[in-house]
Amino acid sequence: MSKSVYLDHNATTSLRPQAAMAVTEALGMTGNASSVHRNGRLARRAIENARDAVAQLVGANPNDLIFTGCGTEANNMALRGLAYENLFVSAVEHPSVLSAAEQRQIIPVDAAGVVDLARLKEMLSAASGRTLISVMLANNETGVIQPIKAVVELARGHGALVHCDAIQAAGKIPVDMAALAVDLMSLSAHKIGGPQGVGALIVRPELSVAPLLRGGGQERRLRAGTENVAGIAGFGAAALAAQAELERMAELARWRDAVIEGVRKIADAPVFGESAGRLPNTVCLAMPGVSAETQLMAFDLAGVSVSSGSACSSGKVEASHVLAAMGVDEEAALGAIRVSFGWNSEAGDAARFVEAWGAIFAKSGARSAALASAGSTRAMAG
Ligand code: PLP
Repeated sequence: MSKSVYLDHNATTSLRPQAAMAVTEALGMTGNASSVHRNGRLARRAIENARDAVAQLVGANPNDLIFTGCGTEANNMALRGLAYENLFVSAVEHPSVLSAAEQRQIIPVDAAGVVDLARLKEMLSAASGRTLISVMLANNETGVIQPIKAVVELARGHGALVHCDAIQAAGKIPVDMAALAVDLMSLSAHKIGGPQGVGALIVRPELSVAPLLRGGGQERRLRAGTENVAGIAGFGAAALAAQAELERMAELARWRDAVIEGVRKIADAPVFGESAGRLPNTVCLAMPGVSAETQLMAFDLAGVSVSSGSACSSGKVEASHVLAAMGVDEEAALGAIRVSFGWNSEAGDAARFVEAWGAIFAKSGARSAALASAGSTRAMAG
């Protein structure tokens, strides 16, 4: 059997060797970063080095960065910890943003999955009191990149704040928090080659965010609990490696496009968000007439790991809220799968995917032809 192919890097990407080394080294240390003795100071140094590295990856000030237990926590902290009267979130946000606060208004997206700036402008004009806007930099399902600078410009005109979930964008495209001028930004280690279970929220210093967890003075009293030193050290090492390899991520666009070209030689496959600027590593596409569930099982049997919708948390196949917001009808949305390349993907991976896609599609055609002829036989017999 040929080698298996992992094409689900947006769900979680492989741990980079530099991160694995940093995690192992930190696990070998004894010391609480809050202790004043030498052991404590060594743990503190590992955390502060990581803070510098992660902040540098996204053009932020390390003093503004708070380590959290995951990206979901960072998003919750931004949306639950700030004081505001209105919360506007885009329709295609990750569930950790969409579900963080009950009282929120949805900013619609167009058919390409890009936020409707004209509608946002109307929403801002109609709002009174302080508004927080949350729009992601790149979508986890389609890879569509949002016009964050334009969102910030509109926000500034109305005195609104902007939170940006940059969890999928960081390490895949250049991200510069200072240039984007957002007020808060969320990150997650396991999307850039760090360990799972570590995230970060970056908050402009003049803003006051209430902690979700209380009972300790860690992370400038904003995130109580003894720090996950090993996880944080791995996050820092992954950030350094991701920054050094950023140009290589741009090259993944060739493989992403080879997937699209390859499947379209076989059938007319819709690609969601195709007309928008997208992450170089991500493509979301449907196989005509074949449900995502069937595809996922067939790809798995063929040794190819992909995912559908945002099923990364439940493993369940449901029509994606992202595709629904883009106006994709439910049947097409239920056939959508996501292919995402990563830092250790290889040149042959796109071809392996296309080969498997072709075989699954051919089989599904044979099956529907068999069903159709069984149906006509029955009809004749009846
Ligand atoms: N935001 C986006 C865009 C994501 O893709 C994810 C993970 O899938 C998250 C937030 C949540 O991050 P974490 O898995 O670290 O909680």
